[in-house]
Amino acid sequence: MGRLLKDDEARLAQERANAGRLAQVPPPQVPGAAARQAGGGTGTAPPSERRPASPGAGEVDGAERAAALGALAETVAACRRCRLCEGRQQTVFGSGNPHADLMFIGEGPGAEEDRQGLPFVGRAGELLTRIIEAIGMTRDQVYIANIVKCRPPGNRDPQPDEVAACRSYLERQIALVRPRLLVALGRIAAQTLLGNDLPIGRMRGQWFEVLGVPSMVTYHPAALLRNPALKRPTWEDMQQVRDRLQGEG
Ligand code: URA
Ligand code: SF4
Repeated sequence: MGRLLKDDEARLAQERANAGRLAQVPPPQVPGAAARQAGGGTGTAPPSERRPASPGAGEVDGAERAAALGALAETVAACRRCRLCEGRQQTVFGSGNPHADLMFIGEGPGAEEDRQGLPFVGRAGELLTRIIEAIGMTRDQVYIANIVKCRPPGNRDPQPDEVAACRSYLERQIALVRPRLLVALGRIAAQTLLGNDLPIGRMRGQWFEVLGVPSMVTYHPAALLRNPALKRPTWEDMQQVRDRLQGEG
């Protein structure tokens, strides 16, 4: 046990040392979105809202953000990169404010999300809404997405090759929204974003950096439904998020 914890400690330290590793990953090439962006504007932003094209690599300025996200969503809707495309009713891209300060990342769509095409609209989603409201925000203010965009059959965990196939979409979403803070919900989201295989209990409550964005790990709302004892630590994690948002506000 002591040995195990020590190993975890070492990996955690390594993970911290690697902070920002993902930031070095170049933005993925998504043909549809890239072409549309390369077209220089989508026609939806009036000239007065257009700012000089000075955003850094992988970023899109101002009003073009929503359009770039929409284009990416269209690309995802047609995606057949992994076997999860076979069982889906529709893809679940993400929802919320394209300019959100705070972004939540779950695991993948469940049955209700697959039906509606929206993330976190089932029972776990209701709880996520309450968690968001508990830190004084609304769902409309934040952005919500998942690691995989198609429902894994029977709500099984997404498999490593499926996660790998889908990850560039999420990285692009993060680069476009550029939230001030990220929250990884549950083990799969945290392990995927941090590139480790640590148990959730070793990651939660701690800050990491993902693509240059400070990121908190906490429990998945579905885990809270199964085990209400996890509500208190989740609340503590979310207080850290609220404090950091306000502190840097
Ligand atoms: N669980 C998730 O991880 N994501 C959803 O969108 C819904 C439930
Ligand atoms: Fe494409 Fe992701 Fe759906 Fe797989 S899960 S088909 S990679 S959108």
